[in-house]
Amino acid sequence: MNNIAEKINKLRKEKNAVILAHNYVPGDVQDIADFAGDSLGLSKQAAETDADLIVFCGVHFMAETASILSPEKTVLIPDRTAGCPMADMITAEQLKAFKEEHPQALVVCYVNSTAEVKALSDYCCTSGNAVELVKALPADKEIIFVPDKNLGAFVRERTGRNIILWPGYCPTHVVITLDKLQTVKSQHPDAVVLAHPECPPATWPEADFLLSTGQMLGHAEQSEAKKFIIATEPGIIHALKKRCPDKEFIEACETICPNMKKLTLEKLLWSLERDEYEVKVEKEVAQKASRALMRMLEVLPATSTRKSN
Ligand code: SF4
Repeated sequence: MNNIAEKINKLRKEKNAVILAHNYVPGDVQDIADFAGDSLGLSKQAAETDADLIVFCGVHFMAETASILSPEKTVLIPDRTAGCPMADMITAEQLKAFKEEHPQALVVCYVNSTAEVKALSDYCCTSGNAVELVKALPADKEIIFVPDKNLGAFVRERTGRNIILWPGYCPTHVVITLDKLQTVKSQHPDAVVLAHPECPPATWPEADFLLSTGQMLGHAEQSEAKKFIIATEPGIIHALKKRCPDKEFIEACETICPNMKKLTLEKLLWSLERDEYEVKVEKEVAQKASRALMRMLEVLPATSTRKSN
């Protein structure tokens, strides 16, 4: 074990810390984490531990979600500039105004949203449970879906529900275009295509399966196929290769989330040494956001992976 890993392990014991790593962060950070997976699954797992400290190697809204679900624990993010451009595409003020335009609508927010936006929402959802959640809502209700227009359109297509979209999007996923996906498919005609619904709708017919990252891991493991094209942030390929060492995974195109790549081992160590940067959600906002999250958790659980180190 190298020096930096030893220091991280010593500090996490001393501080009774749990380290969380999203599927999109660098592989060495995923490897050293106590839990690796999707943002909500990680926050749920951390809440179930008796840790005093959570270090979330992910973007800011993820650390907020961990703080909302574990208000008694200290939550740190190793790089405070690691934000999510999609989450920042709608502010609380914009959502308030949008709700006033559609006063009868229920508001469903993707978990990739700020705590303030969650606090103004009726339900929260993940990419893995959005369809099931919306199916469970009253059929005669209009639904405002924020912030991702692509995931919202995917839910609309799968449910046939009256969904009003906010024009947000993930800059990392929208560069996975139809042309690029068709090109990589022509180079690997024997591969199964797994795409995330944050990808542009034009790409969906080219995908064999539209799945969340957690669902991609489960699908690849259970499938008899040996070769996959992965249309999402390629950090997930590290986890896929660990789960399925005998299978081949090909990036749909070159795209990364620069914010997720800010979470390095060095910054994780620095964070543990300095107890920086704390993410705390203001109590009233946290209580309201928690209500939207709890309603979702009653519908379907999220997926994450227990690690062995
Ligand atoms: S991959 Fe997209 S949605 Fe995920 S954190 Fe990066 S910008 Fe946000």
